[in-house]
Amino acid sequence: MSTSGTLQFRACGLSDVGRVRAHNEDSFEIDPENQVYIVADGMGGHRHGEVASRVAVKAVTAWMQNHRPNGAEEAGMPAHLASLKTAIESAQDAVQQAVEEDVSLVGMGTTVVAMILSGNSAGVAHVGDSRAYRYRKSQLERLTKDHTWVGEQVGAGLLSEEQAKVHPLRNVVTRALGGRGGVAVEVAETSIMPGDVYLLCSDGLTTMLSDEDIESHLVEATSIEEACRSLISASNSGGGLDNITVLMIEVAESSAAG
Ligand code: CA
Repeated sequence: MSTSGTLQFRACGLSDVGRVRAHNEDSFEIDPENQVYIVADGMGGHRHGEVASRVAVKAVTAWMQNHRPNGAEEAGMPAHLASLKTAIESAQDAVQQAVEEDVSLVGMGTTVVAMILSGNSAGVAHVGDSRAYRYRKSQLERLTKDHTWVGEQVGAGLLSEEQAKVHPLRNVVTRALGGRGGVAVEVAETSIMPGDVYLLCSDGLTTMLSDEDIESHLVEATSIEEACRSLISASNSGGGLDNITVLMIEVAESSAAG
């Protein structure tokens, strides 16, 4: 197997409480060693969402550190993506266990969106309405489908994107970590190229900014750090109704001399 040059990655993340909420219930993690990137958006009263998202993010990174991809492929799925999927399933167990240990946490849950980079490929896994995007050649493309009631209606052709945005049930998430039983993690595989930028985010960004808005901020920004700051500040200017988390990963050709 040969690859056409080595890629290198640079990432940054920012999370903001927004302008309305008292607490930030989002969590994110950058694990450069395993090239794993995670955003989670917790839910549940009394700051319990904060616990859920933190437990989930920590469980994913802990699993990845203890079980590096070992070639144990699932049917049709590369080892790194299978690992990420199993890591998220372990996060489901971890959130459930936290509730078992402290019954006051009953009802807490969290979304999760995660990416793992390996060679020239990216694995994306998600549960809920936190999203992954790719920004390539000045164009933004959504890599995940929201696990929301309105998202499913749009997918089935029963609602338009515009109707979904203002629908009274727009906040109903149909999949989350923390419920009883197992969780269906959606996974996808995509190839990566030098110049690509990936964005993981919570819905505090995407309910305030349209995909076109996000794209125009990325066009204008001169670095991923600047893009993270400008996306958060624009979400707050738009009302900041929810916690906002953005995590960006930039792909470049390795400059190391061969
Ligand atoms: Ca949220």
